Amino acid sequence: MPKINTQELVCIVCPVGCKLTIEKAGDEYIVKGNICERGVDYAVEELTHPTRMLTSTVKLCALHHVRLPVHSSAPIPKDLIFKAMKVINSCTVKAPVTTGQALIKNILDTGVDICSSRTIE
Ligand code: SF4
Repeated sequence: MPKINTQELVCIVCPVGCKLTIEKAGDEYIVKGNICERGVDYAVEELTHPTRMLTSTVKLCALHHVRLPVHSSAPIPKDLIFKAMKVINSCTVKAPVTTGQALIKNILDTGVDICSSRTIE
């Protein structure tokens, strides 16, 4: 009989915040406490391949601003967040920039870009 591990998580996909209980029996995950199927997807992904959206700021060369808010174009693996922050912190951007402009392309070979969250003339 396969060993059963149990973990608890709060689903952060929507504001309801269902308390999830996840049992792992062999290769199978059994999720309980979810109101909808998105909770199952969230729980399995969080346990097998956790990712996060990244928001930060970069140094900016512009007349009236010294920092530019940035965000990742998609979630990146949680275990790469610290390395990604090192890359972002070493970056300096020159104005003008536009909202959504990719400033660091394919960060750490993730296929995700770091993009400007503001337009600065
Ligand atoms: S399981 Fe569904 S209803 Fe519950 S928090 Fe997650 S997304 Fe929202």
